[in-house]
Amino acid sequence: MSGLDNIKPIHNWFSKKLDTHPIVISGPCSAESEEQLVSTAKALSDTKQVQIFRAGVWKPRTRPNSFEGRGLDALQWLNTVKQETGLLTMVEVAAPKHVEMCLRHNVDILWVGARTTSNPFSVQELASALQGMNVPVMVKNPINPDINLWIGALERIHKAGISKLAAIHRGFYPFEKTILRNIPKWEIPIELKSRFHNLPIICDPSHIAGSRKYIHEMAQKAMDLNMDGLMIESHICPEEALSDPDQQLTPEDLNQLLRGLVCRLHVVGDEEIDQLVKFRSQIDSVDAQLIELLAQRMNIVEEIGEYKKEKNMTILQLQRWEKVRERGVDLAKSLGLSEKFITQLLRMIHKEAILRQNEVMNRK
Ligand code: PEP
Ligand code: MN
Repeated sequence: MSGLDNIKPIHNWFSKKLDTHPIVISGPCSAESEEQLVSTAKALSDTKQVQIFRAGVWKPRTRPNSFEGRGLDALQWLNTVKQETGLLTMVEVAAPKHVEMCLRHNVDILWVGARTTSNPFSVQELASALQGMNVPVMVKNPINPDINLWIGALERIHKAGISKLAAIHRGFYPFEKTILRNIPKWEIPIELKSRFHNLPIICDPSHIAGSRKYIHEMAQKAMDLNMDGLMIESHICPEEALSDPDQQLTPEDLNQLLRGLVCRLHVVGDEEIDQLVKFRSQIDSVDAQLIELLAQRMNIVEEIGEYKKEKNMTILQLQRWEKVRERGVDLAKSLGLSEKFITQLLRMIHKEAILRQNEVMNRK
């Protein structure tokens, strides 16, 4: 079985209708104290723009000795949040015992984090713990840009009988230093949607951005791609957050951000515009990757420059340039690009590389 059929539209997940566009999930990266949770949730609820309150209770930290969440106590605090605000609650689960505890404490929605999605063994254990349960589950993309790993995790959960299922796009880990914390690679959620039309997709611009200043741009992009909702981290006092302090917004800033979003209505007949936006997003994403690769190439060029300087070698070595050109043309032709185009492009890159090396050589 491969299709993710019989997925329940997100608007029908609960008796209280989730029929806003976008659906907004917000709350802190981590639950830290009852006070922090309740005050954040009340301020979010006052904005009237948030339907679901998220909080990390067990935190998957990349490195040891970081804050790992408050566990069981936090589940009780979330119940208080629910009673005092009426917001639905949502928690990350990474192991069967998390699923069991969340269900025992009436958490409304579960999500699978990016690090867990990357491991089919863990996902299968979660799926087994979810067998026969009627709880909604959202699955974040894996850390690495592997669409099949993402689909595989969704399929495992779906096979366990979960029909209230959604995907969360949170970007992909870049090894190189990039402006955004995670590379969005919008083409991947677009591909997911085109394979599974009924699967709701939520965007998490907070983890893509990694810093407050890029969240709006990423959220707008998600809206332009007609995604179903947004998961945005918020904290009553972001500077004091015990995890992800740079990317959390105050409830008021979140309110402003959401009010500033342009959400095109998905009118029937708008299909062409919609398709155009998708193509453009794919192009923008590829362009960003091209530029980042060029920057990486120039960094290596500088290192070569240093090396040649140390060894007293000449910058231009004609045989090498010929090889670069020949190899590029062969590859380009096999991919359907013209020889003229690729030669011009490589010549420009090579020229820039020589300039850079020149600078390095003549640096005092
Ligand atoms: C989170 O949402 O706080 C989180 C840990 O996210 P991710 O799994 O996307 O890294
Ligand atoms: Mn976080």
